[in-house]
Amino acid sequence: MFNKRIKIKELLQQDPDSYREAEQVTVMGWVRTFRNNQFIALNDGSTNTNLQVVATLGMFDESLLKRITTSASLKITGTVVPSVGKGQRLEVKAETIEILGDSDAEAYPLQPKKHSLEFLREKAHLRFRTNTFGSVFRVRHALAFAVHKFFNEKGFVYLHTPIITASDAEGAGEMFRVTTLPFESTPKNEDGSVNFKEDFFGKSTNLTVSGQLEGELGATAFGEIYTFGPTFRAENSNTARHLAEFWMIEPEMAFYDLEDNANLAEEFIRYIIRYVLENNREDLDFLAQRLADEEKQLSQDKRSEMGLIEKLEFVLNNDFQRLSYTEAIDILKDSNHNKKKKFQYPITGWGMDLQSEHERYLVEKHFKKPVILMNYPASIKAFYMRINEDGKTVAAMDILAPGIGEIVGGSQREERLDVLLEKMEKMGISEEELWWYLDTRRFGTVPHAGFGLGFERMIQFVTGMSNIRDVIAFPRTPKSAEF
Ligand code: ATP
Ligand code: MN
Repeated sequence: MFNKRIKIKELLQQDPDSYREAEQVTVMGWVRTFRNNQFIALNDGSTNTNLQVVATLGMFDESLLKRITTSASLKITGTVVPSVGKGQRLEVKAETIEILGDSDAEAYPLQPKKHSLEFLREKAHLRFRTNTFGSVFRVRHALAFAVHKFFNEKGFVYLHTPIITASDAEGAGEMFRVTTLPFESTPKNEDGSVNFKEDFFGKSTNLTVSGQLEGELGATAFGEIYTFGPTFRAENSNTARHLAEFWMIEPEMAFYDLEDNANLAEEFIRYIIRYVLENNREDLDFLAQRLADEEKQLSQDKRSEMGLIEKLEFVLNNDFQRLSYTEAIDILKDSNHNKKKKFQYPITGWGMDLQSEHERYLVEKHFKKPVILMNYPASIKAFYMRINEDGKTVAAMDILAPGIGEIVGGSQREERLDVLLEKMEKMGISEEELWWYLDTRRFGTVPHAGFGLGFERMIQFVTGMSNIRDVIAFPRTPKSAEF
């Protein structure tokens, strides 16, 4: 029977004195190190702290001891004793050691020495067994749990929106096509274009870039919904914050305006950060130290002003800076950085789209805290965003985080059918294709709003990992889909 094992995290939290001499425990895990033919550091993935198992000299066959190599898997039963070694309260004195799986230490790709994150990316099938990735993925799990907890407590309905979609209204050109048509002798129309009537769904389909449009259908019935699922973008941007497959959380709320939307986003971000600070402190402390060590190699001006924990606590205790796009442009235009021509993309004036260097200047240099930028020019935002009184801006909001840039994109949606139709026509968006979306505006339309939070970017912010490829288990990026 395997289920009798105690997890190492749980065992280490116990008081060694509560164990009587005769009481036995069973632990299972993988060997991290084996010293002096006596001390096994055993890890089972529940915590970075290894359990010290003592194999008393002379008690075990030499042939068995030889097989206790790095990453071999073991089942150990023994007694819990207070530890004399430093850094741990208790250890296990082994009575039986069973090798569940041997591991050839020479061939095992991860050595006890420190490997670079780049190297570990190539060994993503094993990197969970390192302290860094152990912590990152336990925190990822906790954040995902906190997301559901937050919305559940607020009475939102978790809506599963489709992965395969026929609407390409939003991200034309950046979508992955889904088809069963053959590459050879593809069925064609008379004009030479592909005949999608012959395709699996009888029309052209893609992987979704966002669940928002369907989310709005849910919000206009349930009041408040959220989605949490994978999204796909075929954008060829090889940056440290873009993936071709990433997870997005998209709440959508009826009876919300832009300010309500921004308030919810702030509350939500704080809630999930507080959750991990309270529940994953050991992993966060480890990641904070890792980041501090990594930053030691940077020149002084490139280091973060705050440590990881300090930064997270700062976010809990300070309101985000809210300002309009127009104000942001003024700040950027008047900045010394701009006057000295230090932006790669100069500030040309009102109406320009902001580049990530501009966003980061505002967040990291000017305000030094998360920023909510609101009311962007209509011309640089999506068709569904609500037009403001001024007729030229829309009720959009982007949340920008230090070190990451855009972490949330959202808006109040255009609920007025006539205004929406006019806008769609101007932007060349097919009314026929989105008939179902437009129906929400025909039958009991309501003011509503929502946003999308990129889950991996949030994890980057919380864990301090600078490359998005290190916060998702098996990253999909241009020219890379291993594992
Ligand atoms: P960016 O300008 O950074 O490319 P975007 O404007 O394309 O972002 P949205 O379409 O508003 O982003 O998507 C909502 C959120 O999803 C973003 O705020 C971001 O957190 C996340 N996101 C967008 N694209 C990616 C990507 N390729 N990989 C990971 N996360 C992403
Ligand atoms: Mn993008």
